[in-house]
Order: sequence, then structure tokens, then C-alpha cells
Amino acid sequence: MRDSYGRNIDYMRISITDRCNLRCQYCMPRGIPFVQMEEILTYEEIALICKASVEAGITKFKITGGEPLVRRGCPQLVGMLRRIPGVSQVTLTTNGVLLGKYLDELIQNGLDAVNISLDTLDAETYKKITGSTELESVKENIVLAVDRGIPVKVNSVLQKKINAHEWQELAMLARDLPIDVRFIEMMPIGYGKKCEVVSGDEIQKELKALYPDMKEDHTVRGNGPATYYQIPGCLGSVGFISAIHGKFCKQCNRIRLTASGKFKPCLCYGESVDVKEVIRSMTKETEDEKIERVKQIIIEAIEKKPKQHCFEMTEKITEDKQMVQIGG
Ligand code: SAM
Ligand code: SF4
Repeated sequence: MRDSYGRNIDYMRISITDRCNLRCQYCMPRGIPFVQMEEILTYEEIALICKASVEAGITKFKITGGEPLVRRGCPQLVGMLRRIPGVSQVTLTTNGVLLGKYLDELIQNGLDAVNISLDTLDAETYKKITGSTELESVKENIVLAVDRGIPVKVNSVLQKKINAHEWQELAMLARDLPIDVRFIEMMPIGYGKKCEVVSGDEIQKELKALYPDMKEDHTVRGNGPATYYQIPGCLGSVGFISAIHGKFCKQCNRIRLTASGKFKPCLCYGESVDVKEVIRSMTKETEDEKIERVKQIIIEAIEKKPKQHCFEMTEKITEDKQMVQIGG
């Protein structure tokens, strides 16, 4: 459906857990409380929301978290959503650690594509960023996913003095593998507010200087606001998602659902619309009546989408949660 600013909202990011097997500081700083398990949406509730979402014009779903693969049955959820008539795409964002274990099941259940987050290729830096020693598994799982033929994107968030110097090495993953490597600007959400943003524009300029023959690639390759470049000799592309230096709100096509059942019209603001309470209060209604009621709530949330974020004016940001609690 169209929101109040005429944007077509056809994509929903669904967080299925606020738990994670990594501890990327900018996303999940130590000491943040977890949502009680009974407050997390069940897979049946998520499927109901997706059926209602299709009725409201949303056809593409991204499963995220926290780390979605730490929640038992994630591949089965993919199947549940993929079988809903009208759903055109179900994709997953993962840190890649458990991907090898679940990849075949995910593909059998109809997963359309996978995004793998990887900020560094250096074991020590990986430990510093994520608190984990699983770098080699993630690298192997990227290759495994490519071998299985599923479209793969690698997402990297660069931080000054930590991994920014590695951008060329990360970009060159797209030389040897048919994957898109995307640099995502750190957003001032939660601990991210304390991090110095590495400008996507600057990396783009340096990339252009290194590869003057690179061409902007206008093929539509996902749901996001990324700009892609094709470098001669590379099997994949290099992309940029620059929320700060390349404000893309005019093209916003999404709504978010948190693990605890709240629709978030925009990442930047704390405002949310509770769908879980409504679903749990409907005990006598038929499935069709529930879908109709949930559809109205989705429409309400989409109508609340603001014109734009205010990441450039941090004092105006009203979201005080960490990214892991929202679902990145
Ligand atoms: N655990 C999964 C993963 O790492 O891909 C899915 C959830 S994670 C929150 C999704 C993405 O959000 C990751 O690529 C992560 O790097 C990114 N992210 C987390 N905090 C961020 C922030 N403050 N700014 C920009 N991206 C952020
Ligand atoms: Fe976990 Fe992903 Fe957040 Fe890292 S970015 S802490 S892997 S949810």
C-alpha cells in the first residue's frame, strides 16, 4: 500500500529473536535485558501477521534478529511464510555462524536469498568486534551458500580505527565470488550513536579512483536502498547503504516488526504499534476476522511512517533501544 507520502510499502523486516550468539558491541552492548520468552511472537502469530500483511500489499519478508538462526525452527518458519499465497520473497539476514548447519533446510523451505554480516576478514579484529572466534566458519559458510546457488550479499559496517582500513579486502570478496558486498553506514541507534561514521561516499570515491572503469549497476538486486557498482573483472558488485550521507527516505519501502510484536514505522523514532496484544486478545474470532483486524493495525502503522529519519540530528532521535532489540 501507499503511505502518506506516496511511497509503496511492500517489504517487512521481521525480527524473530532479540538473542544472539555474537556480541557486536555497536548492536548488542553487554548488559542489555532480554525480552521474556512469552513476550516473543510465536511462529503462528508471525504467520498470521504475514497473511494480513499480504492483504495490505506487503509481499516481501526479511527474517532478522538478533540472530535468527539461534531460534529453533527458523527454517520451518521460512517454509510457513513462503507457502502463504501472495508472498513473493522470503530472505534472511544472519551473522553466518550457524548458516552451514541450517542452509540446506532453509533452501528446502524456499529461502530466496541470504544476507551475511561480516565486518572483517581478520581473526583478531573479528574477535574484537563480535567477541567470537567463528570467523573461519562464517567465511566457509559464505562459500557454501554461493555453491548452493542461493543469492548472497555480504554486509559490512565499517568503524574508524577498527576495520575501516579493510574495506578494499572486503570489497574484493566480490571479485572472486558472485556476491554483492555492501558497506552499511553505522546508524546512530543505541551504542551506534557513540561510533564515528565511516562515510560511504568517501569509500565510493576511493573505489572509483582505484577502478575508474567501474559502472553504476542499476539492476534491482534486493529490497534495500543500496547503490551498486560493477567493477570490470569482478564476479559480484560492491554496494553502499548510506543512511547518513545518502539519505534514502524517499525510496523507503519498509516496515519493521519487532520480536515482541510491535510494528516500527521508522528506525529513528521510538513510536510503535502493538500488534501482539491485539492478536492475543482475540480468542473467539475466526482466522479471517483476525487477519482483517491485524491488517487494520498494519495499515495504521504504515500510515504513521514519517517523511524521513533524523539521523543527522541525533538530539531528535527518539528511539532509545539497541539495534539487536529492534531487529536491524
Ligand atoms: N544477526 C544478524 C546479522 O548480524 O546479520 C541479523 C541482525 S543484525 C541487527 C542486522 C544488521 O544490522 C547487521 O548487518 C549489523 O551489522 C547491522 N547493524 C547493527 N547495528 C547497526 C547500526 N547501529 N548501524 C548500522 N547497522 C547496524
Ligand atoms: Fe548479533 Fe547481528 Fe547484532 Fe552482531 S549484528 S550482535 S551478530 S544481531
